[in-house]
Parts: sequence; C-alpha cells; structure tokens
Amino acid sequence: MEEYDVITIGAGGAAYPAAFRLKQSGYSVVMIDDKGIMSGNCLSEGCVPSKAIIDTVHNYKIMKEFSNFKLDYKDIIKRKDEVQEMRYRLHADELESAGLKIIKGTARILDSHTLEVDTATDKLKLKFRHLIIGSGAYTYVLNIPGAEFCITSADLFKIDPAVKSVPESIAIIGGGYIGVETASFMSILGSKVTVIEREDRLLPDMDAGIVEKLTGMLPEMVTHLNNEVKSIEKSGDKLKITIINENGEKNYIVSDAVMMATGRKPLIPQGTEECGIEVERKGIKANSSMQTNIPHIYATGDVNGLTPLFHAAKRQSLVAAANIMAGDTQVERFNSDSVPFTLFSIPNMSFVGITPEIARERKIECSTVTYHMAGDSMAEIRNETCGEITMLFDRNLKIIGGYVIGNDAGDIINEIALGIHKGLNARDFAEMAHQHPMTFEGLDSAARKLF
Ligand code: ADP
Repeated sequence: MEEYDVITIGAGGAAYPAAFRLKQSGYSVVMIDDKGIMSGNCLSEGCVPSKAIIDTVHNYKIMKEFSNFKLDYKDIIKRKDEVQEMRYRLHADELESAGLKIIKGTARILDSHTLEVDTATDKLKLKFRHLIIGSGAYTYVLNIPGAEFCITSADLFKIDPAVKSVPESIAIIGGGYIGVETASFMSILGSKVTVIEREDRLLPDMDAGIVEKLTGMLPEMVTHLNNEVKSIEKSGDKLKITIINENGEKNYIVSDAVMMATGRKPLIPQGTEECGIEVERKGIKANSSMQTNIPHIYATGDVNGLTPLFHAAKRQSLVAAANIMAGDTQVERFNSDSVPFTLFSIPNMSFVGITPEIARERKIECSTVTYHMAGDSMAEIRNETCGEITMLFDRNLKIIGGYVIGNDAGDIINEIALGIHKGLNARDFAEMAHQHPMTFEGLDSAARKLF
C-alpha cells in the first residue's frame, strides 16, 4: 500500500496551495480529484468563467453607449473557453514543474489513516499521515417537479457550455449572488430577466442597506420576492413556472429558459462521519487552524462552510500546511474578518469586515465616512458615476470594515481588507497619496473627513 505524508481530497483552492507548499518543503504529497485537474469548480464552472463573461459584458455595456456596437454571445463564450483552456494548460505546467501528482478518482475515507480511491480502472488503498479534505461544494437543485428543465451555473460556465445563445427571456430561481450576477449580464445582453426569491429582498444574506443602494443601480429585471417556486412544466416551446407567495396565492411566469441558482452545499466525502469526523449543518466542523476534531485531519475551503470563497479556501489551505509542518500544532489561524467579498453584478458591490448592519446589531460604536463616485474623475471618464466607497472606523479610528459599490469595487476593497488585516487607522488612509485619476483616491478623501 502506498503511503504519503499528506494527501488532499480535491485539487481546488482548498487543496493545491497546501500541496505545493508541503511538496516544496520535502513532504511526499498527492492530490486526489475526481476531475483529475487542478483548480476545482472555480475554473471549471465558477469564478473564472463567470467573470470572463461578465467582464466582456461590462465592456460591451460601455461601448454600446458610444456606438451601435454589437456583440455575438458565441464570441463571448469562445473567449471564456479560451481563458479556461489557457489556465488549465498553465496549471498542468505548474504541477509538472513542482513534481506534483493528481490521481483522478473519487476518494472515500476508510479510517483515520487510510483512503480508498476509485479510479476508472482500479480501487487503490493509500495511507496518509495527514489529510486535507478540500472536497468543495455542489450546486444544490430544488427537488420540485420539472427541476430537470432548469439550467444551472455549470450549463452557462463550463467549457463548451450548454447555453450558446442569449434566451429571449430567462427566469432565475434564487436571488443570491449567482442569481444576481447572472441576471445582470443576461439583462444587459437583452434577455428579459425575472428573478424569483423566497425572502423579502434580493441577496438576503448580505447587509440590507448596502443591497438597497445596489438594487436601484442594477440593470432592468423583474423580481418576485416572498415567492417560492412550486413546479416547472413545458408549455409549447416555453417553460411555465408556478410560484406561490407568502399569502398562498399562485402566479405563473412563462419563460424561454429557467436557471436554478438556489445555492451550494458542502460535498462531504464518503466515510467522513463513519471515521468519527464531526459534521455540522454547514459542513465539516473545523477550528480556526482548519483542524477537524481529529487533529491530523484538516477541512479547508467550501467543505467547512466557514467562508465559501476561493480566496478564503486558498488562505485556509496555507494555514493547514503551516500547521501540518508544525506537527499538527496551531501556529497559524484563519481570520475571516479581513476576507473581502465581491458580488460581480454590473455594477459590482464589495464589502469586508464590519458593515453598517453588523455594527448596529453588535452595538459597535463607529464613525462612517463616504466618498461618492459622482465626484470621482475616473468614474466621470468612464461615464459610470453611480456608487460609493464607505469606510467604517472604530472609536480609536481603526478601520473595521467597508463597502464599495460601482467602479473598481473588487479592487478597492482589497486595500480596506489589508487595512483591517494590518490594523491601519484613518490617518494611515488619509495620509496616503493614492494615484490620480483613479477611484482609489476616494479612500484618502473619505478618511480625511474625520480630521
Ligand atoms: P474549494 O474552493 O473548496 O477548493 P472546489 O469545489 O473548487 O472547492 O474543489 C473541490 C474539488 O474536489 C472539485 O474538483 C471536486 O470535484 C473534487 N472532489 C469532491 N469530492 C471528492 C472526492 N470524494 N474525491 C475526489 N475528488 C473530490
């Protein structure tokens, strides 16, 4: 039976950063992944391909304001596929030069030191001294009649996707981040978009005040809030969706396509609980050192449900690697307070740390300052003057959170996040000569309002 110092289940963001680090430090390491390739769902059907489409659509939106510019959806997909293929080639080279191997197969945990791997041709038994479970999450599909007529994010974003043209109309079940991102770009491309959400607002997991500001800036879409989808049926060449509101009243939506965007759930490898690893509702239970209740077994990334974002998974993976190298002691910890989130709607919305709603709930005394994009040079240049930068400082003027809507949101939020990570204060931001003409200037302008 082959024996390794470290085995990872999965080869996504939760696994490969640790695998590279440990291999470099002389550990024998192997990754097991059922796709047999590095980067997990992020590259196969998640962050990278969806942003490849959204970025192109955002540019298209700007261009069409100047001219009668036309863009074929087939070309957008072609570009997206090229990006994915190019990145897979890059990852294959990185693996080869690091001397790292991925076994293509599905791993099952047999006991606290043994895995069984089902490959296309074999059943392998492998021993490990340390295990990193980075098996990610899967797209959750509602169990309702007609669910088989729905597309999911994979049908839009995988290489050679099932959706090859913009549907005349699309109904999106779920107003979470995947639903709202898709609704934004489909609307700009000319589809008639309807979003159905069970809760009383879009993006119910996010700060209500920030979402309210964003909602008014989103491209045109019809929303049915407080509504649940009951069934979907064929009606000629269209789909008929039955929805029911909080008062029990039925309504119908007819659409060319229906997308199910009802969230993701942790993908727990077989044998996890039988081996004594604790599992909670949100995923495998992991402490801030990423250890499960069995100290040499780690759970990183989407599978632990702590902060299901690729960049958080990467950080958690490196925390696990450091703790493995320290002999399963807790030398590094994961801190979610400085992990930024970006909603890639058009416009974008990002936040990090304490938001105004959290500050109110936790009764945190804070000073809030805002810079409006309406007065920003770069926003004017781009003719996209909606949005703002808002920063939250505590009683000692230490940065504790912030959010950005509009131009460069996903970039600017990183500086606020670094500020939180490094304990910067308002004066640090105020005294920084941010480059002109860039939206980042808003950071020092906003902070100076406190002096
Ligand atoms: P994360 O961002 O947390 O790394 P991903 O979903 O991107 O999550 O990556 C997890 C990878 O693990 C995916 O490629 C998934 O198909 C793979 N995977 C999930 N369960 C198993 C398993 N039991 N054996 C092998 N690979 C698995």
